[in-house]
Amino acid sequence: MSAAYDLPEGREIGRVVGDAPGPTLIVVAGIHGNEHAGLSAVRRALATLTRRQGRVMGELVAFAGNLGAMRLGIRYRERDMNRVWTNERIADLEARARSGEALDAEDHEQLELLAAIRAAIARARGPVYLIDLHTTSAHGLPFILFGDTLKQRKFASVIPLPLLMGLEEALDGVLTAYFTQQGCATFAVEGGQHDDPGSVDNLEAVVLLGAESAGLFGSGLLTETGAAHALLDRRRGDLPRVMEVVSRHAITADDAFVMEPGFLNLARARAGQLLARTRHGEVRAPKDGMVILPLYQGQGADGFFWGREMSSTRMRVSEVLRHMKLDRFLHLLPGIARDPEQPSRLVVEERVTQVYRHDMFHILGYRRVRKQSTRITFERPATIDHTAE
Ligand SMILES: [Zn+2]
Repeated sequence: MSAAYDLPEGREIGRVVGDAPGPTLIVVAGIHGNEHAGLSAVRRALATLTRRQGRVMGELVAFAGNLGAMRLGIRYRERDMNRVWTNERIADLEARARSGEALDAEDHEQLELLAAIRAAIARARGPVYLIDLHTTSAHGLPFILFGDTLKQRKFASVIPLPLLMGLEEALDGVLTAYFTQQGCATFAVEGGQHDDPGSVDNLEAVVLLGAESAGLFGSGLLTETGAAHALLDRRRGDLPRVMEVVSRHAITADDAFVMEPGFLNLARARAGQLLARTRHGEVRAPKDGMVILPLYQGQGADGFFWGREMSSTRMRVSEVLRHMKLDRFLHLLPGIARDPEQPSRLVVEERVTQVYRHDMFHILGYRRVRKQSTRITFERPATIDHTAE
């Protein structure tokens, strides 16, 4: 498959730098090489801001994610470039590069992208924001996902698409999570189907509103943002503004999992509704809620995610609790310890997870849930900016 769009010549797609200092917004397009809508979208946004350069404070800079795969029109060559952003892997990659070991295609891509983003962070004249642009193979509604910190909620909340919390935390090694940890406010956006021209419009609108939210220009100063807001508000339809993942329906090949037809990527479900069938029987909705990213094609370990709408009251409650830093006391409860190596991680004995509902951890931002033998760990996004939350 060859690409029918203008490929970027190099890692940097373009940049607009205002005379006045201000925030930096980094946009990554095509970290999955077959997702080219983000490239067209960010070029349009760059053109808009270039015309208004006199009003821009700070910098907007866009990078190609997986340049080699973009040139081939494929998702990736050796490995998924959005699963490689862990401290361990980056340290290992840099050590291998220093020792002159042979590196594969995505190793080179990652080192170059990492260097480009670090340089943008180093020259920043204000806070740094990052948006990662994606599209999906199946038709579906656009949505935004991010690690649940208050700073990131604030950054994303001006965009009237569904905001999905707790999904990024279900994945390991994603770009946005790594740069959250480096002190940036980030989110990723799924803009729609790969080849739908509407996906370019959606992602362009997200970049413009993201730039406004970051403070690259005064709120309401660009007429284009009004239209961007109206477009995304229409796209959301009757979906809730904010949703959270409650649990992951993990599957194995052995389960013979078959999703019931008819669910979009985000879909409401009624209590008792049939969601899927497995060789063990039917899977029904435990209560009214949301089916998130149902598995229809290919293989995977996630049948679907189960979620629910997050009311504005619940949002405010969790904000207040976090401002009170209530999570500082969690490790005083029986069966809960704080990981000495990683203070943003709680280690909970499995026998007490029936007593403390997962909800208690989620509301405090501890949404990364992992099982380790008889323990379950709950982790919130760590960040080097310890004053942020
Ligand atoms: Zn993608």
